[in-house]
Amino acid sequence: MPGKNISNAAPLSSAEVELRAELVADVQTLAGEIGERNMARYPQLNAAADFIENSFSRAGLDSRRDTYELHGRACHNIEAEIRGARPEILLIGAHYDSVFGSPGANDNGSGVAAMLALARRFAQKPAQHTLRFVAFVNEEPPYFQTSQMGSFVYASRCEARGDQISAMISLETIGYFSDAPRSQTYPAVGLGAFYPTIGNFIGFVGNVHSRALLRRAIALFREHAGIPSEGAALPSFIPGVAWSDQWAFWQHGYPGIMITDTAPFRYPHYHSASDTPDKLDYDRFSLVVSGMEKVIEELAQTPR
Ligand SMILES: [Zn+2]
Repeated sequence: MPGKNISNAAPLSSAEVELRAELVADVQTLAGEIGERNMARYPQLNAAADFIENSFSRAGLDSRRDTYELHGRACHNIEAEIRGARPEILLIGAHYDSVFGSPGANDNGSGVAAMLALARRFAQKPAQHTLRFVAFVNEEPPYFQTSQMGSFVYASRCEARGDQISAMISLETIGYFSDAPRSQTYPAVGLGAFYPTIGNFIGFVGNVHSRALLRRAIALFREHAGIPSEGAALPSFIPGVAWSDQWAFWQHGYPGIMITDTAPFRYPHYHSASDTPDKLDYDRFSLVVSGMEKVIEELAQTPR
């Protein structure tokens, strides 16, 4: 219910109520109508690609398919660029495939819906920095952290071209929150002593090399967002830290951070058939996305 009061989160503004409707609709299209989408459900994977391309186009953005072949089939990363005055690129990405057996509402319909909503908001206001919005294919196993992963192929082409990516932001599973005691767990023994045990915040995670970006992003988020956040720059061998497309950018020397509700460490429907659109908390999800809008505005120096 828009405007509903949540214990630790702000009520939605009228702009956030509009944003919420977009997020509800796009998660429903991806996970409700298209459903499971991956190489085993190749027509659905392509339906998701078409939907993303059409969404960019309706926002007035030209998009480009960055295609590679896998098992004799074409796979598409889809990018839309908003050229800024400067060549440095702020890249906002989300994977659009879902794991085998799951409709992927939260993982990662939420990230794609957020990426599209943000692209709409920046389409008509060019920033100092170049903005690039990218939907990645084949993030999930068996391609996860391999050279066949969509974001790995994409990032290697960026490096070969000499693209100056100053920051990569990976939107990965960002729509589930809980106020229940002990609803938040952690991948490493000891982290629970420093971080909350209630899953009512959004997480910012980076590797040690991306620490400056992580600190700046979370500081900006806290200035503006109506929902609590926690951040950690951790060695990438800690389970979870490298579990999305930011990993691929790290492999090519680019700084990157992941925004996440922490997925398996909180979400009971992670990688299961029950990861359906009704499980998401759209009020708090909207607060996360509107907070990220402000972070991107500041990082990219969008004129007001
Ligand atoms: Zn994911």
